[in-house]
Amino acid sequence: MFSNSELVFAQHYPFSSSAKQVLKKQAFELNQTPEGVIGRAALMLSAAAKGKSYVQEHLVHSPDLLVQEIQAFPIAKILVSAIDRPDLWDRFAELVANNTFFYLTNAKNRRETLLELASDLKVKFELHNSELFLVRIPVDSFLQAGFKEDFMKLVNQPIEKGLVFLPENDFARFLSEMAREKTRDSLPVALPSIPKNLVEVARQLKEQLVHRQKKAFSFALAGKLDPNAFPPCIAKIYANLLEGKNVGHAARFNVATFLVAIGFAPGQIVELFKKTPNFNEKVTRYQVERIAGRGKARYAPSSCAKIRSYNLCLAHCPVSHPLQFYERELKKTSPQKTNSVVQK
Ligand code: SF4
Repeated sequence: MFSNSELVFAQHYPFSSSAKQVLKKQAFELNQTPEGVIGRAALMLSAAAKGKSYVQEHLVHSPDLLVQEIQAFPIAKILVSAIDRPDLWDRFAELVANNTFFYLTNAKNRRETLLELASDLKVKFELHNSELFLVRIPVDSFLQAGFKEDFMKLVNQPIEKGLVFLPENDFARFLSEMAREKTRDSLPVALPSIPKNLVEVARQLKEQLVHRQKKAFSFALAGKLDPNAFPPCIAKIYANLLEGKNVGHAARFNVATFLVAIGFAPGQIVELFKKTPNFNEKVTRYQVERIAGRGKARYAPSSCAKIRSYNLCLAHCPVSHPLQFYERELKKTSPQKTNSVVQK
């Protein structure tokens, strides 16, 4: 049997080998997944879709609830794979990274927990154990984390003889990013035959997700253009902007050129960027107006091939340009509007 602290570790880090050991001992047939486990998995995914936290600290004294939560993780992965939305796979991996960082930085025996998780994930490290730094890790291991924040980029790290020196907090960040990568790489899971009840839960979750995005879209839209008809690549960037998430340069450029092409005014696009971190109205307005042409030639929106080269493509739509997708969708709902809305 597992001790309470082993179960807590497995619940906090459900992607770990320790969690896999628990799952092996507590296995069940997929078609006999307990309702409670399905419910926890659905809550996890719902939190991921909303970008909310899913920290469950109250479970620590109940082995049954801890096991239920550990079992919910692979079920959540099956459900999210059945939903077949790569943007949700990203969000699920993000939830796992955020949880990992929370649990690591709040652990009672923080140093021991960090080292235990690093060993569990087979991360190469040397103990430094000074006041400033906890570990040194090889540069190639550090790069596996794929940090996006400037302050975590390799160029901003202390390095000596091919080893990166990390204090406790940065080692927690590194392990959280490893958790994100590990989770994201494992999705989608192979789905041989999913029991009907899980298919139904996946369907309901997908409906909620679509409904939520539609609500966000109609709130922002004022009824003239139709973001519900956006192709998946643009819809995801648009939703992230509405939620105030940090969106990369290529994504900003592509969404702006697309929106200009379908008739958004530069002012509307600037409004859309307003919630993003480090928003600078003057710079944004200048860039958007340049994209919109300012009386000269405007930037053309990218083709699917170009969007794919930026790694922003999310589906295999039967089109070669996102504008084609948009027009096709508009035709389905409002055939007479199509030609007047898309400005070529
Ligand atoms: S196939 Fe084209 S329209 Fe569809 S998500 Fe990819 S880039 Fe966008």
